[in-house]
Amino acid sequence: MSIRFTRRNVLQFISVGAMSMALPKRLPGQEKEGKDKQPEEKPLTFFGWSDTHIPVHGDGSKLWPAVDAMNLLPGKVFPKNIGGVVETPSFVFNCGDITHWPTHQAKKAYEDLLTKRLKYPSYEILGNHDDAGADGVKDAPPIMKEWFKRRYGDLCYTFDQGGIHFVCPFSAYDESLGSPAQDITAEALDFIRKNLYRHYSPDLVPEKLIPVPKGTPVVVATHLCFDAMTNRDAFVDALKDANVIMVLGGHYHKAQVKSYRGINFVQLPSVNSAWSEITVIRITSDRLVAIPYDYSKNQWTDNPGKILDVKISRPDKTI
Ligand SMILES: [Zn+2]
Repeated sequence: MSIRFTRRNVLQFISVGAMSMALPKRLPGQEKEGKDKQPEEKPLTFFGWSDTHIPVHGDGSKLWPAVDAMNLLPGKVFPKNIGGVVETPSFVFNCGDITHWPTHQAKKAYEDLLTKRLKYPSYEILGNHDDAGADGVKDAPPIMKEWFKRRYGDLCYTFDQGGIHFVCPFSAYDESLGSPAQDITAEALDFIRKNLYRHYSPDLVPEKLIPVPKGTPVVVATHLCFDAMTNRDAFVDALKDANVIMVLGGHYHKAQVKSYRGINFVQLPSVNSAWSEITVIRITSDRLVAIPYDYSKNQWTDNPGKILDVKISRPDKTI
């Protein structure tokens, strides 16, 4: 099964998605050929994890088994009802609470993990522990926020991979509420509304590439998972009529899948839990699969509450 792209999709993917890749020059005649044929692309595969909670002293060793498992997963056969094998992922997505408390040592441990151990590119969002502190202690140092801004240009950003538009808002957390369940902030909802059809990566994407065609499949990622969102209806309302195929979340330290008002909510697993799982996500032209792999037991989960396997709509013409 493969994803069909319009020429414009492909150009957009090449131009926008590959922010840090060297790009080949287009050859003469390539444009004409592109008009006649619908270029084919591989399905998009990426891995998801969350709540890595690197301790203050910067010992990231608890994350190593998960990272090593991710490095070894390509080639693994999926369960029969899913079919095929795991392709090399385009990237890994961390849904926040990268650190337990934002220290320089914890930040360095994560950076080292990304640059020296993990074989794939990484995208991430910040969680409440990276932002607002923890356990009733307020005013965490802005170490992770500053690191994040250097990496993405802002606390919110978007990116494109494999013809999918990823929208990554920052939702500030209010530690003083004393509750892990909170609203997605009005600012974050506003960012989502504004960027379902355009890019926002201030330091990385040229102005001319900002529009995203209507109908483009969209993934939205927030640290707060579905169960932790106290304003779910406002959140779903903010997605409007965009082709949102999935919402990624973390925060509650376990893999879980929920559907609400037609939106698929996929909660990513944490190394800081009783489950040694990472989630493999595969998006083809008409199907979206998200399934956790248990790297201690070396097997796929068979828990239906953790698996998403749905048809999706990927219009051929997204212009
Ligand atoms: Zn959290």
